[in-house]
Amino acid sequence: MKSFTETLSDGYGQTLSIDELLYERQTEHQHLIIFKNRFFGRVMALDGIVQTTERDEFIYHEMMVHVPMLAFGKARRVLIIGGGDGGILREVLKHPDLEQVVQVEIDQAVIDLCREYLPNHSQGAFDDPRVDIVIADGMAYVEQAESGPFDVIISDCTDPVGPGEVLFSSAFYAGCRRLLCPGGVFVAQNGVVFMQPDELVTTAQRLSPYFADTRFYTLAVPTYAGGLMALAWASDNTALALPDQQQLAQRYRQAGLNCRYYTPEIHHAAFSLPAYIQQLLP
Ligand code: SAM
Repeated sequence: MKSFTETLSDGYGQTLSIDELLYERQTEHQHLIIFKNRFFGRVMALDGIVQTTERDEFIYHEMMVHVPMLAFGKARRVLIIGGGDGGILREVLKHPDLEQVVQVEIDQAVIDLCREYLPNHSQGAFDDPRVDIVIADGMAYVEQAESGPFDVIISDCTDPVGPGEVLFSSAFYAGCRRLLCPGGVFVAQNGVVFMQPDELVTTAQRLSPYFADTRFYTLAVPTYAGGLMALAWASDNTALALPDQQQLAQRYRQAGLNCRYYTPEIHHAAFSLPAYIQQLLP
């Protein structure tokens, strides 16, 4: 039987059976494989790293989107960097005040192949009239675009190797700050802390010159193996991250959300970090 092994560290990895190979090719930017696994359903990996699976994607997408969107309240304009599988876009579009989403994805092939082989991720989101797709490097976009301000910016990128590396740079964070409205919020996937502690330290150092409030919140996604994943949070509004839980519950109801991971209680709890993570931060 064929299998896919992701190396997480020397002596540690995760292996998934490839029960059906659906697609594999080298795109212009990265190696892409989509296969069917009997436990996780369809799986998409880039450059040997699992990006998303049908079975556990809701955890990541709900927490990447609903934490900043419900904290901000009435977000009208949202920028997504990366996110080619469409899961972030699907969740952003559920928010009733939304007027426009710009999504900047470097690799057209990821969008095309995920629309074909992982249609439950986007669920038609790419055809929504509020969506503008830009095929470009997110770094170049945030440096040059005049299309701000955005209320919320979400960086759903690959890890800091290959094309995703620039999305963890100081210059990228400065560009995002420039495109945010006053009091807007930037969130970004920031790896599994137990496996990539340096990523957390570096991101905290690089974000802090540009934002009054930089912090992290966590979630556990089975295929992002090795423990808690950290999501970076940055805003000039120091009160934004943790609105009153009743207010969050009201916004949740108004948006008609029916989440499987996010709750207003989880929203608050996710910002409480275990000691081993706190100890990495200044
Ligand atoms: N959720 C995943 C994770 O945490 O591992 C990542 C999702 S995957 C959709 C990330 C996307 O970022 C890919 O589609 C990739 O093509 C895109 N990407 C990587 N580098 C980029 C860049 N410099 N600009 C824009 N998109 C980029």
